Amino acid sequence: MSDPAASASVPEAAHFIEERILADRASGKHGGRLNTRFPPEPNGYLHIGHAKAICVNFGLALRHGGVCNLRFDDTNPTTEEVEYVESIQKDVRWLGFDWGERLFYASGFFEQIYGFAEELVTKGLAYVCDLNGDDVSRYRGSLTAPGKDSPFRSRTVAENLDLLRRMRAGEFEEGSRTLRAKIDMASPNFNMRDPVLYRILKKPHHRTGSAWSIYPTYDYAHPICDALEGITHSLCTLEFENHRPLYNWVRDNVSVAAKPEQIEFARLNLTYTVLSKRKLLRLVQEKRVSGWDDPRMPTISGLRRRGYTPEAIRTLCERVGVAKFNSTVEVVQLENALRDDLNKRAPRAMAVLRPLELVIENWPAGKVEELDAVNNPEDPSAGTRKVAFGARLFIEREDFRADPPKDFFRLGPGREVRLRYAYFVTCTGFDTDPATGEVIRVRCTYDPATKGGDSPDGRKVKGTIHWVSAEHAQRAQVRLYDHLFAAEFPEDVPEGTDFMVNLNPRSLEVLADAALEPMLGTAAPGSRWQFERHGYFCADEKDSRPGAPIFNRAVSLKDTWAKVEKRKGGK
Ligand code: ATP
Ligand code: MG
Repeated sequence: MSDPAASASVPEAAHFIEERILADRASGKHGGRLNTRFPPEPNGYLHIGHAKAICVNFGLALRHGGVCNLRFDDTNPTTEEVEYVESIQKDVRWLGFDWGERLFYASGFFEQIYGFAEELVTKGLAYVCDLNGDDVSRYRGSLTAPGKDSPFRSRTVAENLDLLRRMRAGEFEEGSRTLRAKIDMASPNFNMRDPVLYRILKKPHHRTGSAWSIYPTYDYAHPICDALEGITHSLCTLEFENHRPLYNWVRDNVSVAAKPEQIEFARLNLTYTVLSKRKLLRLVQEKRVSGWDDPRMPTISGLRRRGYTPEAIRTLCERVGVAKFNSTVEVVQLENALRDDLNKRAPRAMAVLRPLELVIENWPAGKVEELDAVNNPEDPSAGTRKVAFGARLFIEREDFRADPPKDFFRLGPGREVRLRYAYFVTCTGFDTDPATGEVIRVRCTYDPATKGGDSPDGRKVKGTIHWVSAEHAQRAQVRLYDHLFAAEFPEDVPEGTDFMVNLNPRSLEVLADAALEPMLGTAAPGSRWQFERHGYFCADEKDSRPGAPIFNRAVSLKDTWAKVEKRKGGK
């Protein structure tokens, strides 16, 4: 390896953590190494906030020739499941990151972590405490009052060692004893008031089975795992800032060689959603959503099913940056990242979501014409395709009004519009359902001289609408999604009110019988498309089948091309 201090030009740091890493490497700290880690607890699916932590940790390692570990922080057997371990690996990979051989489990270090507990006891730095949970809290004092020493604080080393070993052997009831660090019950920092290191939990663990009756706490296990894995920079979110003295205390009082350092950054929050696994779990358990991967969920798996790309999620994280203060990002920023990405890559298609029949009365009987349509105006290499056109079409119900106001530029009696890629048509009348009065059919004539949608005589039409040939249409279910919560800050509720009251009752609208361009009938599950004028859609990765497609709307368009075209001069 080259000496980092010797490199002539130091790259510019994008944020304070990168600055620190560059400085550490330049000074030769940690032997000039960079090793970060992403340490999820496998008690839920990853969400967009985790994506930020993933991008920061893996991203820094990639940019600076370091490595990043994936570590399951599986110290709490009561909430952890194998399903979560698997989904987390899938999601990290899908986001585009690779931990190579560096997959770790905190539980894989249980023996060493326990050994260090005996070391602390032997050094007189930890003791077995018989206070129950309530008493531990009471003795801990308050923000204004110092805590009181536990009556068990002065046990001898020999007694502590004996009790700790018997805790491990499963001799005692859950909750009857804990192992605590002997630090300072008067510390202004609560975390330093003799924190619990081990608790008795007689629960089987998804990896260690029933080998253990005691489990280490996060605050105790985390610095040890970091040190044993050779982590140099242990990045975490701001709520751990006042745990840092404890992190350092553990690191410095057990005989680990490495000296990882904890650095905190702001968590990602998004409007119109919640990003707490506990709350997301409630949404799943109470069946407010169809599962962790419901396309309305802010989970990675939900976003993927919705139609999000890893690139869009990484772009969002890049744009949000790394800060020292918490803030909330507007969800429209996430949506814009997806629009920017799919605008460049998603093939276009015509899809009529709420079909209304349109009949062209002067179309030659039985004739079907193949018209040219552009696959992606942003990407000329995507070429064109043929779209069948005939006497019977479907148009959007909302593109026709029986009694349109002046500024309605779509179809109405006597009005002429352009059918995208096809012809100008003029409305000659419409039929209604005698029972309901509902319009069931629009009648038109077409002008054969306007093929391709261009008028030979410079005649202008104000509106362009899309269509699908009724004979060729692929019928499909289309799911339109809106924010899962109706409130911008769903967790801002009065004391005693459940955040669930802010759920958006209209977050999902299912259209049972959309009419799509026939090529969408064989769309691969997971494939993403732009339905012109409607937005970006994704063939549902779970439910969609060739011949029976189901599409999810990932995000609407900012502009419809009808407006865009007007701005570009009506081309
Ligand atoms: P939650 O608050 O949703 O329960 P957590 O912090 O308990 O999440 P962990 O599995 O412990 O979830 O998180 C793994 C890593 O992801 C941690 O380093 C944590 O700091 C980070 N992380 C979690 N939520 C966010 C977020 N919203 N923004 C940035 N990083 C996050
Ligand atoms: Mg956590």
